[in-house]
Amino acid sequence: MNIVLLGPPGAGKGTQAKRIQEMFSIPHIATGDILRDAVAKGSDLGQIANSYMEKGLLVPDEVVIGLIKERLAEPDTENGFLLDGFPRTLAQARALDKVMEQMGKKLDAVISIVVSEKEIIRRLTGRRVCKSCGRIYHLIFNPPKRAEFCDMCGEELYQREDDKVETVKKRLVVYNKETAALIRYYQAQDILIEVNGEESVEDVFKNIKEALEARV
Ligand code: ADP
Ligand code: ADP
Ligand code: ZN
Repeated sequence: MNIVLLGPPGAGKGTQAKRIQEMFSIPHIATGDILRDAVAKGSDLGQIANSYMEKGLLVPDEVVIGLIKERLAEPDTENGFLLDGFPRTLAQARALDKVMEQMGKKLDAVISIVVSEKEIIRRLTGRRVCKSCGRIYHLIFNPPKRAEFCDMCGEELYQREDDKVETVKKRLVVYNKETAALIRYYQAQDILIEVNGEESVEDVFKNIKEALEARV
């Protein structure tokens, strides 16, 4: 299964991706995670990426397309992959189609997680992430057992720099301007699956699972 997860920031892409990854045993490839790693390492790429990310803007297409091409060439994607946060522009979607064609593959499904703006603000301002394993929490909706520490590995949780309310609002403007058009793009390819993201994490997953199984 070659799958794309689409949706505004805070829709629950990362949360669902962890579960889908386990179900299908395919790698979870999140451009946001790859870019944050580069930022943490302080590489040239990281410094360029951070100058966009901290403002809530998209990193330039050629940078992320290059990263994804490299990542999809790795052997663990042989039996499928799950893209989270890529593509985010029409140029990225077209580049992905081209790379897939060159590899003799195709996308099987694009899952669009639908969530209202009000809910997005609530979710992102309460989001906390484990420094070590990347597990995602929410202060109210999905709190860790011990405040500010990860249930899985015991490490500290942190708030993403771009999850401050002002940056979240900018990211939403960018989503509506650049990314929302991908819904029609994939609808036209007849691979779009729309899922209501405003149910419990378990129910959203159940709906995604059923929709994917119906396609296999
Ligand atoms: P969220 O999970 O909130 O949707 P991500 O972790 O996917 O956010 O992305 C965080 C930031 O990383 C984005 O705001 C953007 O600056 C950058 N980024 C991630 N993926 C892409 C992409 N495909 N194209 C351009 N920029 C990206
Ligand atoms: P995305 O990757 O799309 O930006 P995340 O998976 O990081 O979204 O989720 C954003 C925030 O919303 C996190 O704090 C997460 O714990 C919370 N969350 C995710 N799914 C749900 C849900 N179905 N109900 C309530 N909160 C959720
Ligand atoms: Zn952890």
